[in-house]
Amino acid sequence: MKCRENNKPTMQDMTNPVVTKNEKGRYSAKGTCGKCGGNMFKFMSAVDGEAMMK
Ligand SMILES: [Zn+2]
Repeated sequence: MKCRENNKPTMQDMTNPVVTKNEKGRYSAKGTCGKCGGNMFKFMSAVDGEAMMK
């Protein structure tokens, strides 16, 4: 069972996040949930996205 059904995983739960920026300047992160092993996808604020792309 994926944990997002009960409580939403946060960025802190994501392992091996890959941050991308789309053509609209929107940041998003793809990774694996450290709690349930499921795939995760989250949109991020520009501040968070830029910090993680370093
Ligand atoms: Zn999970």
